[in-house]
Amino acid sequence: MRRIIVIAGLVALLAGPAAADRLQVVCTLTDLGWLAERVGGPEVEVTVLCPGEYDPHFLPARPSLARKLGKADLLCYNGLELEVGWLPVLMDKARNSRIRPGQHGDLDCAQALETVLEVPEGEVSRAEGDVHPYGNPHYLLDPRNGLRVARLMADRMAQLRPGSADRFRARARELARELTPRIEAWRTSAAPVRERPLIRYTKQWEYLADWLGLELMGAIEHRPGIAPSPRHVDQVVRQARAAGVRELIAAPWNHLDAAAKAAERMDATLVVLPAAVGSVDGAEGYAAMFDVIIGRLVAGAHD
Ligand SMILES: [Zn+2]
Repeated sequence: MRRIIVIAGLVALLAGPAAADRLQVVCTLTDLGWLAERVGGPEVEVTVLCPGEYDPHFLPARPSLARKLGKADLLCYNGLELEVGWLPVLMDKARNSRIRPGQHGDLDCAQALETVLEVPEGEVSRAEGDVHPYGNPHYLLDPRNGLRVARLMADRMAQLRPGSADRFRARARELARELTPRIEAWRTSAAPVRERPLIRYTKQWEYLADWLGLELMGAIEHRPGIAPSPRHVDQVVRQARAAGVRELIAAPWNHLDAAAKAAERMDATLVVLPAAVGSVDGAEGYAAMFDVIIGRLVAGAHD
């Protein structure tokens, strides 16, 4: 028995600080969770609210999620109102003063961005659907933004746990060293996809396209959250056929039946891409997600 206790103690030592001492980090999205784990290492314990296979625009605000928020020392969220449908509700229920806006425990990861795409001009009307009034929030689909977020997380974790500051910052640098050559390589291997424009099911892929130099032509569901009219779909199909589009890209949670029908009419391949870490098999990590995205895009371009 004593030996078992000694071994358990050793394992705990190797695993880093005791659970109670770890910084409790709650992330809204799986991508952020992956980044927080890489940066935080054994000094943090990471909990993710929205599983990879869920559409983050529409996560049900369950009481169990509020309880997770209640324990957070640090909340990392995407921002740009991606989580506006459920995070404020959970925050109200959680009553956790450490993560209130303005506290050190509140981290809007969009602060890391240099550029926000598609910031609407003029007033935003609800008739246009569930548009994002501060611009397109899907910036984590550009891995350069992931690295920016990792640096921001390191700085904030350092503020909250000054004793581990060097380790957090060193891990963020290490991640950048690891991903930077791959970011180059992914862009290079996407060359065949740059030859023809792409149609997308929803407006989720703008940062990905911006990074890879892809041309996006139209969106089937052009008003987010509102089913497209048959007339609009006809128009996109006509456009796509005229341009020789080969691929229609969609997220796993889009209406894939409708997407498949539209792709068939375009004579294009429906390519389902992981829009989040863990949203499809093989995309369990942030880097693995880009392997899958590039692999599927390139395969679709040759079909
Ligand atoms: Zn969106």
